[in-house]
Amino acid sequence: MKIQENVSLKAYNTFGIEATAPYFVEVHSTEELQQILQQWEGGQPFILGGGSNILLAGELCGLVIKNSIKEKAITSREGNKAWVSAGGGENWHEFVCWCLEHELGGVENLSLIPGTAGAAPIQNIGAYGRELSEVFHMLEAVELETGALHSFGKEACRFGYRDSIFKRELKGRYCITRVSLELRTAHHHLNTSYGAIRQTLAERGISAPTIHDVSRAVVAIRSGKLPNPSVLGNSGSFFKNPELPRRQFEELQQQHKDMPFYPLDNGCIKVPAGWLVEQTGWKGRRIGDAGCYEKQALVLVNHGQASGRDIYELAQRIQDDVEEKFGIRLEMEVNVI
Ligand SMILES: Cc1cc2nc3c(=O)[nH]c(=O)nc-3n(C[C@H](O)[C@H](O)[C@H](O)COP(=O)(O)OP(=O)(O)OC[C@H]3O[C@@H](n4cnc5c(N)ncnc54)[C@H](O)[C@@H]3O)c2cc1C
Repeated sequence: MKIQENVSLKAYNTFGIEATAPYFVEVHSTEELQQILQQWEGGQPFILGGGSNILLAGELCGLVIKNSIKEKAITSREGNKAWVSAGGGENWHEFVCWCLEHELGGVENLSLIPGTAGAAPIQNIGAYGRELSEVFHMLEAVELETGALHSFGKEACRFGYRDSIFKRELKGRYCITRVSLELRTAHHHLNTSYGAIRQTLAERGISAPTIHDVSRAVVAIRSGKLPNPSVLGNSGSFFKNPELPRRQFEELQQQHKDMPFYPLDNGCIKVPAGWLVEQTGWKGRRIGDAGCYEKQALVLVNHGQASGRDIYELAQRIQDDVEEKFGIRLEMEVNVI
């Protein structure tokens, strides 16, 4: 474990943006992390997972700590339930596959989401009708300022839509070293409510799907829809889907009768950000090497040599145009560094 100087982060972020970490270290255990924090005196370090939800648009000025803490375990079982834990540096999809191999259900809809297990609670990852918070049990995290290890239960994490306390009040203050989930060993609660999942299962002639079938369907759908970051740099959905108060939605709907929408339990109405972006004409367009993906307007892409600033400026222009047309300011889902 050695602190390196002037390390290129191009291979460490899925946008493929060129940026330099003045100092960089990879940690493989909680103890290594605590040791580094004790010896480092140059200000709050930045924690890096798989780099699949960051846009490196500014200058990094301190230490970048790459979380490579690996470990997967079934910690206990009771009735139809099992509790599993993953080190913060475990690859999320590999962890999902491992759960499936052990016939543990609850994360199958979250298959193929890039990144690490440690970053999963940060924005409460979600896809195809499921969110991490539904299976989340607790996490352990090291406070960067003191090196102390703390536990956070579900309540303490204050999960929301692509949101948690770690994106707000505690932003940048902890490194998540272990995540624990409560999964099912039998009588799985499958969620196949998404049309694309139902359609894929039907095409495959599967009427009584298993957790494996659902996972395979999700993998197939995702592979056909989202650009592979190793081919075309991107960070998945760049913007969050806005949740509008009913009144604002109804006023908008008067002018845009074909606007898709999803009523939420909290009384708000969710509108797909991709649709809003598409209506401004940005889908498939680019400014230099910074582009809006041709198959999904919610995804911004690096066609090769775009800088983080280029992508950020494109994102701002899209935000401005959506705001002008719909009066909605889209919120960035990606963490701009
Ligand atoms: C093609 C593609 C598809 C995607 N699809 C989805 C999707 O369907 N659903 C979804 O929710 N997301 C999706 N994402 C976004 C991304 O995969 C997730 O947000 C993922 O959890 C990010 O993990 P990471 O390890 O890459 O985090 P990073 O990008 O490395 O970091 C993200 C943020 O979390 C912080 N962080 C990282 N690790 C830790 C840690 N251990 N402790 C404390 N802070 C930490 C970082 O400092 C940074 O602020 C997609 C991304 C891509 C590229």
